[in-house]
Amino acid sequence: MGQITLQNVTKSFGDVEVIPPLDLDIQDGEFTVFVGPSGCGKSTLLRLIAGLEDITSGHISIDGNDATDIPPAKRGLAMVFQSYALYPHMSVRKNIAFPMRMAKMDQAEQDRRIEQAAAALNLTDYLDRRPGQLSGGQRQRVAIGRAIVREPAAFLFDEPLSNLDAALRVGMRLEISELHKRLATTMIYVTHDQVEAMTMADKIVVLRAGHIEQVGSPLELYRNPRNTFVAGFIGSPK
Ligand code: ADP
Ligand code: MG
Repeated sequence: MGQITLQNVTKSFGDVEVIPPLDLDIQDGEFTVFVGPSGCGKSTLLRLIAGLEDITSGHISIDGNDATDIPPAKRGLAMVFQSYALYPHMSVRKNIAFPMRMAKMDQAEQDRRIEQAAAALNLTDYLDRRPGQLSGGQRQRVAIGRAIVREPAAFLFDEPLSNLDAALRVGMRLEISELHKRLATTMIYVTHDQVEAMTMADKIVVLRAGHIEQVGSPLELYRNPRNTFVAGFIGSPK
């Protein structure tokens, strides 16, 4: 579970093609980072995979199934945004439970998943608080908790740490990497920060103007950047 394939995927907004034909294979359990400058199409690509935007042409398959006609909520993917998107009037517990309540999941199962997510994210003591009573890092953990309880085939992160200060970012980076190890679930992580890319990724996808410049492990890209654009982004000496 969690294998995602893009074949000849394009996306246009009106007359503007922001994603020219693109192929990409993401293996089950892999931590893939999309990196590239602002406006290069990272969020668009993630939203296409999530089904929040329709592809203009091509195919996306998730675990071998064509995703075209599968609505976002049924794709088995959980998206985590930089803006947290928490409900301010609800407790942490209710925020985390929200997708399960929508799915009318059995209450005992909801409670089990909440306890598990809270334990994994160090939120056990904060379940009865409101988001306004939490730090930025804790809010981001609640947003991740809300994704975990869905037990998704893949997590999609769109610059989840860009609202946090530098010190907190380092800690959250470690927490997300730890979570990936523990869950062994596919994660796609969008960032424009090369340090995040280099330290978190199994595989880095370097994007430029909607196309893939290079794909490889951090070490491969560092040692063998295909061009100066990749080298510049990866911080390689070439
Ligand atoms: P990134 O996340 O890498 O900063 P985006 O995926 O947000 O880049 O944007 C890629 C390009 O697509 C940009 O040129 C942006 O202006 C354009 N774009 C994104 N969303 C829309 C939209 N809903 N309508 C029109 N253009 C869009
Ligand atoms: Mg973006």
